Amino acid sequence: MTAIIYETFEKVKVFEQGQAGAMDINTKLAVLDQIYRVCDDFTGKLDLACQKYCAHCCTCNVTLTTLEGYRIVRHLISSGQSNSFEKLQPALNRKRFQPVVTTNELAELCALEKDLPLESSDPAWGPCPLLKNDECIIYAQRPFGCRCMVSKQNCQEAGYAEMDPLMLTLNNVCLQYIEHIDAHGFTGNLSDVLGVMAKEQNRQKYKSSKLKVAGTSLIANLPIKILMIPPEHRHEVKPILDSLNNIQVPMKRSK
Ligand code: SF4
Ligand code: SF4
Repeated sequence: MTAIIYETFEKVKVFEQGQAGAMDINTKLAVLDQIYRVCDDFTGKLDLACQKYCAHCCTCNVTLTTLEGYRIVRHLISSGQSNSFEKLQPALNRKRFQPVVTTNELAELCALEKDLPLESSDPAWGPCPLLKNDECIIYAQRPFGCRCMVSKQNCQEAGYAEMDPLMLTLNNVCLQYIEHIDAHGFTGNLSDVLGVMAKEQNRQKYKSSKLKVAGTSLIANLPIKILMIPPEHRHEVKPILDSLNNIQVPMKRSK
């Protein structure tokens, strides 16, 4: 891997590990919304080919954190779409990308110049189980892994997505923050995370940071130790980092 100088995490205030761990579920969700907004504000200014019903990137390989999975499941239940959980079952029997390292773990491995695990992912493994008639049934609640998947050219016509390297850096940073606020949670493939979160008892345990995922493919999240920001992007990433670091953590609300 080419040399990357990493930004230390010392400047980050509101996401200090202790504070993230002390947040209740509603606070974490409120912070997650603000991280999504920072990302959406940035991508909203880009000239992108992405549009409604363009769904070639909606594959079964999307990954997310348990916090994002909790948010999606809560939405499916409150909007009367709990039957979607049944549609996840076939997806759980199909080949899909199942990460073996989280983004924060990857950052640590890179910083220590350690070997990275080989991970493969193929769009041919099939569509996302939440895609219906080329439309995402949870679009407003889609996880960061979907929000950050954008392209300057139409992926179907070009055969691949074209993403600015700066966008990749920003995506990694946002993924690191999301994992950080869910440091007591887990990361995994969308089908696997929703499969766990669809169970009421798992959601209750998750809310009290007591969720156990033995026997699943989910991997434990980590707090940020170091941010993956290549030196050539430091200047341009700074306003985004400032926005993330200035996110206001709401006072605790009742559950
Ligand atoms: S990333 Fe590609 S496939 Fe996905 S919405 Fe954008 S242009 Fe379409
Ligand atoms: S969750 Fe929605 S946006 Fe994300 S891959 Fe699935 S259908 Fe597409």
